Amino acid sequence: MTKVNEYLKKIQSKVAAKDDGQPEYLQAIDEFLPTIEPFLEKNPDIVASNVLEELLEPERIVQFRVPWQDDQGNWQVNRGFRVQYNSALGPYKGGLRFHPTVNQSVMKFLAFEQIFKNCLTGLPIGGGKGGSDFDPKEKSDEEIMRFCQSFMMELQRHIGADMDIPAGDIGVGGREIGYLFGMYKKLNGYQAGVLTGKPLAYWGSQARTEATGYGLVYFVEHLLQDKKTSLTGKKIQVSGSGNVAIYAMEKCQQLGAKVYTCSDSSGYIYDENGIDVKWVKEIKEVRRARISTYVDKYPKAKYVSGQSVWTIKADFDIALPCATQNEISAELAEILVANGVKVVAEGANMPSSLAAVKVFEENDLYYCPGKAANAGGVAVSALEMAQNSQRAQWSFEQVDEELNKIMKNIYETCRDTAYDYGIPMNILAGANIASFEKVARAMISQGLV
Ligand code: GLU
Repeated sequence: MTKVNEYLKKIQSKVAAKDDGQPEYLQAIDEFLPTIEPFLEKNPDIVASNVLEELLEPERIVQFRVPWQDDQGNWQVNRGFRVQYNSALGPYKGGLRFHPTVNQSVMKFLAFEQIFKNCLTGLPIGGGKGGSDFDPKEKSDEEIMRFCQSFMMELQRHIGADMDIPAGDIGVGGREIGYLFGMYKKLNGYQAGVLTGKPLAYWGSQARTEATGYGLVYFVEHLLQDKKTSLTGKKIQVSGSGNVAIYAMEKCQQLGAKVYTCSDSSGYIYDENGIDVKWVKEIKEVRRARISTYVDKYPKAKYVSGQSVWTIKADFDIALPCATQNEISAELAEILVANGVKVVAEGANMPSSLAAVKVFEENDLYYCPGKAANAGGVAVSALEMAQNSQRAQWSFEQVDEELNKIMKNIYETCRDTAYDYGIPMNILAGANIASFEKVARAMISQGLV
């Protein structure tokens, strides 16, 4: 074993011992560490500084109680979190997730990924994440409002426009950001830049809603262009039906591809005629209903309840997992390979298990990890912050063009870095090495803090 290998193993087992019982977090670390080995081999100063071990320790984690009253007058309580992981490159930045699976492990893995994702955007933002195990499903608008208000009553003391800037994630969209912003304003006065993903009427950015999904597809398009092909005529499989999935499907269709599937936690839709994205938008954004109701308008489409969309056996070229972590196991990854999928680009964070990634690599698929491929959302969040500081609002075209440029740059950075380290088209390693180097060097230049 080389010295670097031993060093990485030592760090890995230290984290595993300290954070035993945090499987998602350990998974993110286990995916990350081996990929930076070739970089550490060439940069002994980074190993000598032990900055890696410092980086693996979150700067701060806040956990708090969120009491709220339901419509029947009962007192309820949930758990709130904010993980302020790394501020070497800028104020903490990252979304808030409201979902029953939220716990410290999930928050830490998301915040960890966010450090590198944010770095790849090239914009001055550090990494953080927050949320609650509150389940917004089937809650009334009033319950959502009361929960958001209570959540912000505590969170407000930990955030600020130049300190930590939350945004949305699963279960947190424009409505929730509105209620959170309202309470922050009541307590602290008007500070536009304290949250991103705001509605357009009060300091939101054009194209923020579309950004993660559009950015994902721009990333894939740049990869395909490099391989002398394009999205035109490609068969696409999408999971999820939230914000990321909806705008990924929309952009795929605009660029001439055909999207056949989408899903939610209850089941999936397979529409041979291509998914009607406008109808999905209506179901999810207006009616706030389940994806099963898709067939009300398209009785010929298939709805399969209780099964993963990745169990479908059919011809596909590209898979865009846009639902949630670990939705693709090794077994499901094998189905994707057998289906003929050549590109997997992650709209969700860590949707592929470690074993699934191995299957993709063994079969020479282009695997585009979330921290690179879905960085468009947070990138436009950072553009929203820039607009808020300028007291300006840019046009849709301007933001969209900037987003496309950022995604191209991320793709090229990952590709070129992988190439430099002799692992061509290993986008995961390229993403991890390029961003780790920048964050680690920034930390070293700031001293032991
Ligand atoms: N939740 C998104 C992500 O996973 C966006 C975060 C943001 O806009 O701050 O990157």
